[in-house]
Amino acid sequence: MRKLATIDIVEDVRKHPDADTLDIIIVRGWQIISKSGNFKIGDKAVVFEIDSVFEKDSVVGLSLPADKATRVHTEEKGYVDEAFRIKTIKLRGQISQGYALPITYFEGKDVDLDAEDLTTELNVLKYDKPESWSGPGAGRANTAGSFPTDYVKKTDQERAQNLKRTIYDHYVKDTPFQVTYKLDGSSETIARLQVEGAPKDYVCSRNLALKLDNEEDTSHFLVVGKPILAKMIEMEIEGLALQGELVSPGIQKNFEGVSKPEFYLFNVFSQFGYTYLPPAQAKEFADRLGIKHVPILHHETTLEELFGEGLTENELLAKLLEYAEGPSGLNGKYREGLVYKSLDGQFSFKTISNSYLLKEK
Ligand code: AMP
Ligand code: MN
Repeated sequence: MRKLATIDIVEDVRKHPDADTLDIIIVRGWQIISKSGNFKIGDKAVVFEIDSVFEKDSVVGLSLPADKATRVHTEEKGYVDEAFRIKTIKLRGQISQGYALPITYFEGKDVDLDAEDLTTELNVLKYDKPESWSGPGAGRANTAGSFPTDYVKKTDQERAQNLKRTIYDHYVKDTPFQVTYKLDGSSETIARLQVEGAPKDYVCSRNLALKLDNEEDTSHFLVVGKPILAKMIEMEIEGLALQGELVSPGIQKNFEGVSKPEFYLFNVFSQFGYTYLPPAQAKEFADRLGIKHVPILHHETTLEELFGEGLTENELLAKLLEYAEGPSGLNGKYREGLVYKSLDGQFSFKTISNSYLLKEK
């Protein structure tokens, strides 16, 4: 589960250039706008990351404007009728990503302030983009069970802001990365696994395994997934999962502007090593199978090659976020962001374009 509420040290505080009553604070890789005077450098803060959701009457919800509560879709509870979602916003021209409260706010409130992760304790839910589906076949598919996490990892990616230190280590070490465009569709996993000694075929959405034997089922997941499964069978591929983004009219408002359902491979996962194949091998795989691969911005580059030498951690993060902005890898107007994978397949992260986040509903 993602840590959404943490206790962190305030790294920097400065005045908002255009608002006397506001300060800009820096915590981990995030810039958050806060009431002026709430924090000074070195203070402890309880920080809620973007996509934190509070139900109206939860502990922290108390300090949020009651009339701003809306219906929000969450990972844990599905739709919640009256809730607050922390989003990327701009306040007087400055970006704010998250919500920070002085630790003193929680004193005497029966909260363990030595804990590192307060997500559960403070009843913070996680916003889950309701996969927006419309039109025939877009989302409908019968479920066969849960995602086979014993054999394959789900496709989540961590945000660069939460990996500032680790990414900096890779900058210093000159780790080579593949950089791909992040497509905004729906995660799909197509796999042939050995399960309890027998081969088993899968087509999965982000969190669920889908039923394969219903001929009537016209879900886009199956329409693109079944022919790929057939190729895997023909080529006798076993123990591997192909993971990619399903983009289509009718899915996520067709952000990428395609004309029919398409699958773009971004990972090949080996069940036996419980690991990703190196990204170059995933690309070869796509070519061999004759399927599409997510658009590649760089096959091999280092962060120093991209952003220059001698940067501090914060400067590097700022460059990474700036680089997330730009045209789409397909036909969309702009991109959601980029995904960086180390060439050994062992480390990856995403950078999401702030202008994309600001436009999010
Ligand atoms: P998010 O969409 O913010 O949950 O970020 C993680 C998701 O990005 C993964 O689950 C994938 O479905 C999706 N994704 C889209 N493009 C890529 C890509 N090029 N590499 C890896 N994941 C991607
Ligand atoms: Mn996505």
